[in-house]
Amino acid sequence: MSATTKKTLGFQAEVKQLLQLMIHSLYSNKDIFLRELISNASDAADKLRFEALSDPALFENDPDLRIRVAFDREARTLTISDNGIGMSRQEVIDHIGTIAKSGTREFFSQLSGDQQKDAALIGQFGVGFYSAFIVADRVTLTTRRAGLTAEHGVRWESEGAGDYTLETVDKPQRGTEIVLHLREGEDEFLSDWKIKSVVRTYSDHITLPIVMKKSEWKDGVETPTDEDETVNKASALWARPRKDVTEEEYQEFYKHVAHDFEPPLAWSHNRVEGKQEYISLLYVPSHAPFDLYDREKRHGIKLYVRRVFIMDDAEQLMPQYLRFVRGVIDSADLPLNVSREILQSSRDIDAIKAGSVKKVLGLLEDLAENQPEKYAEFWKAFGKVMKEGPGEDFANKEKIAGLLRFASTHTDTDAQVVSLKDYVGRMKEGQTAIYYITADSFAAAQHSPHLEIFRKKGIEVLLLSDRVDEWLTGNLHEFDGKPLKSVAKGGLDLGELEDEAEKTAQKEAEESMKPLVERIKTTLGERVKDVRVTHRLTDSPACLVTGEGDMSANLERLLKAAGQAAPTVKPTLEINPAHALVTRLNAESDEARFGDWANLLFEQALLAEGGQLDDPASFVRRLNGLLAMLPS
Ligand code: ADP
Repeated sequence: MSATTKKTLGFQAEVKQLLQLMIHSLYSNKDIFLRELISNASDAADKLRFEALSDPALFENDPDLRIRVAFDREARTLTISDNGIGMSRQEVIDHIGTIAKSGTREFFSQLSGDQQKDAALIGQFGVGFYSAFIVADRVTLTTRRAGLTAEHGVRWESEGAGDYTLETVDKPQRGTEIVLHLREGEDEFLSDWKIKSVVRTYSDHITLPIVMKKSEWKDGVETPTDEDETVNKASALWARPRKDVTEEEYQEFYKHVAHDFEPPLAWSHNRVEGKQEYISLLYVPSHAPFDLYDREKRHGIKLYVRRVFIMDDAEQLMPQYLRFVRGVIDSADLPLNVSREILQSSRDIDAIKAGSVKKVLGLLEDLAENQPEKYAEFWKAFGKVMKEGPGEDFANKEKIAGLLRFASTHTDTDAQVVSLKDYVGRMKEGQTAIYYITADSFAAAQHSPHLEIFRKKGIEVLLLSDRVDEWLTGNLHEFDGKPLKSVAKGGLDLGELEDEAEKTAQKEAEESMKPLVERIKTTLGERVKDVRVTHRLTDSPACLVTGEGDMSANLERLLKAAGQAAPTVKPTLEINPAHALVTRLNAESDEARFGDWANLLFEQALLAEGGQLDDPASFVRRLNGLLAMLPS
């Protein structure tokens, strides 16, 4: 393409929508555009510094990285420029004018059209470059990637409506310059004092100097001089002692590293000395990002070595179950040319990771202990992810277990607020296990027939209905020396929780029901592994139980629904001898009818635990046949 051609390109439909929304809903927070643009400039400088480690020529004899902010009262423009990495033509097309963020689709699907609600959402989404259009009705971005020659400059311009133009221009200086043509009424940003105060509020933690022309008061107006002045503190915030950093500075820094609009829930700032020397500043966000379950997700922990930015999203520094943690780790020992491959097999990194995980878990323990409302908020946002922990991090299993929260029959609501410690504290005299049930919905767990005896005896049962709970219970077998036991698995032995009279009654029932049990077993044949008299039921006629070591029926269903191979586990049918249906079955002499009843008993037990019938039509036929026998 020749240098003179200007090409007009359309925005992605989502960008248009986002722009509209942003301009209207973020207006009351309009200052943030400066933070976003400075943050991008700072990232661009970090990237250049890192790429220049292996290719110093990228500095083009201009190694002093900085961000410049300038305004022109006559032209009514505000200009933010950097001498960072810059962008190639393709990068401009890919990054400015499209939204590549993962989770974008979910974001748009959540928009309600209600301005206030959507404003809160957009805050969570992170706004970036487009926030320029809150105050500008035209934005001109001129950029050149470091290492390319001057004629590879690119100019992007848009009025923030449907399209943008792109042309090739000469740009001798590498990096990016963004000119905001301010909207009518935004003249406050044409003031030295205003800009400096916004920069100090939002960007003091930026490690790069943010430079402005010093201004003078002349004839009652501020007039820029030729002298430069650095507006921000320009020191790495994490390298400052804790006592020198204010709450606001910590919060602003979080918004910068996490690309988040909301303040964090909590943070932990540490300088570690000894074998490994490093600084960590780790934040727990207050809400889940859109891409929490996206494998392609970005962000995470930024790795620095002696203040030099090395990489974003250093996944070796945090285990998967803590992937929501944001922040910075700055090592004093790693080599500057450290790569992702080296990180994977580095003992230093393992030690830093172990130390950082301890800090995060400690922070969460502290939150749980001292700020339970905040911890509840955390659990709502990240509980499902934390439940992956015991399967991933064996060293910290007990600690993680202590942080888990569940719904239980104690509160009988779906709020996950019960800790294992609470549970153990409420265990009955003679109770040796922590009981739980898994099901694919809270209602199915809460109303499961398996809970009947537990409810009757006032024994608490944890009600687990998150998908990840199956994974959790497969990996967490005990807490505080007490085994975790599914109420739907194995022969139930309540031990001392049952008195002598109950045990005798049970024995007698087993004896007297023997012929019936045998008859049902013969009738059901391959459908069951076994049939026996239950200990568990008080109200329902029957339930299904899986073997102690078998996969739970819930997990089998989850796997099969996900198209994965899972063995078909044959259940054991338990019948309740005290139930009228069972009594009638016992008295039934017609073989055909007995067969229908026995199968019905099995099928309704399967339905009650959320299972699916192989042959629903036969079930309906049997049921109708029996209903038709009712006296009218
Ligand atoms: P985010 O910063 O969250 O990625 P933005 O919309 O702010 O989203 O920016 C999109 C991308 O555009 C950035 O990730 C970066 O690749 C590029 N970009 C933005 N500003 C600059 C800049 N000043 N220099 C170089 N690249 C930039």
